Amino acid sequence: MSYIQAQYDRDICLNNRGKEGQCKNKLRKKLFPIVRGIRSDVSLVRNRCFCYHSGMAHQWNIVGHEHAIDILRRTLLAQQVRHAYLFVGPQRIGKTLLAHRFAQTLLCTGGPDPQLAPPEPCNSCLACRKVLHGNHPDVHVIERAPDKQFILIEQVRALQDDASRRKLEGRRNIFIIPNAHEMNPQAANCLLKTLEEPEPDVVLLLTTPDAGLLLPTILSRVQQVAMQLLTSEQIKAALEQQWQVEPEEAATIAALAAGRMGWAALAAEDEDVLSERSAQLETLASIPTLNKVQRFDLAQKLSAEKVDDLLELWLLWWRDVMLTASGCLDLTINIDMRDLLKRHSAQFGLATAEQMVRSILRTRESIEQNVNVRVALEVLMLDVPALKA
Ligand SMILES: [Zn+2]
Repeated sequence: MSYIQAQYDRDICLNNRGKEGQCKNKLRKKLFPIVRGIRSDVSLVRNRCFCYHSGMAHQWNIVGHEHAIDILRRTLLAQQVRHAYLFVGPQRIGKTLLAHRFAQTLLCTGGPDPQLAPPEPCNSCLACRKVLHGNHPDVHVIERAPDKQFILIEQVRALQDDASRRKLEGRRNIFIIPNAHEMNPQAANCLLKTLEEPEPDVVLLLTTPDAGLLLPTILSRVQQVAMQLLTSEQIKAALEQQWQVEPEEAATIAALAAGRMGWAALAAEDEDVLSERSAQLETLASIPTLNKVQRFDLAQKLSAEKVDDLLELWLLWWRDVMLTASGCLDLTINIDMRDLLKRHSAQFGLATAEQMVRSILRTRESIEQNVNVRVALEVLMLDVPALKA
């Protein structure tokens, strides 16, 4: 299930109180196919930080995701750990965090039998502390280099070399591949070899926002663990209890997070996240008054930035314009900018907002299929409706 679908299930099914007799289930049917698969991201660092030992119901120290944790706990209790797992869910919801916690638990020596992995990490043994500090020699992270478009075959070959060697300290050799869909075809095919003939103690932990982005041959050799969006209430409570955010600010961040705890944590820790968001929305609001040349200049400038984040933000924005134009302002995510949402809704209307949502989804798909980012953004810029300055 896509993240926007979950969002809708939460927003509309649990909050099914239409205004002026409007049936929100009808609206839901209309919007569902359009805003499917919205994803997210953003960047780091504020004075606040996560209070590690406060009030967590379990030792995994993860907000929400009880179902996913339960699957892993049962695997550990039965001592039936598989050689590969794929954590699937929207960006910034905690997939990589859960992969690290699972790795930590697999290596933890604080259980009743130090030879066996306990059902949850102790957070205090040497192995736990090393994984938490990112310096356990048996936990390897393979990710796309910032200056590269893909995870490359050389990185997967290095993984295979490491996998064939003896583990150094722990009982397993663990490889975490966040955003495994970023492997190019050569790298993905190379990884298949490891999945087909796994070394006995090797565990691969992959993450992706959408299982459909991976080869079916890879999917058939991993256990998928689905992860869902959190509710605003879960996020707000976590921000207040674990990050010591004031209730009012916690409510705003929780709404803007749209179910993504990772994004909420970043926004709580780094005030630049919210100011960047405001700047990006200002840019978005300015596009309708730009001429063609100015739009192309902007496309060039934006193509050098983190386009995934930008498109996600814009998608959520136009989704909110659609909701506002449909009389459902109370269901919008950008709760701190409702005046601008009302203005855009009055200026552009439902049909144009719907076109923009489709256009942004097309742009994101093109970029995933390796269309030049600048060209994809130029096409998108031309789709933005015009207004006189
Ligand atoms: Zn431990």
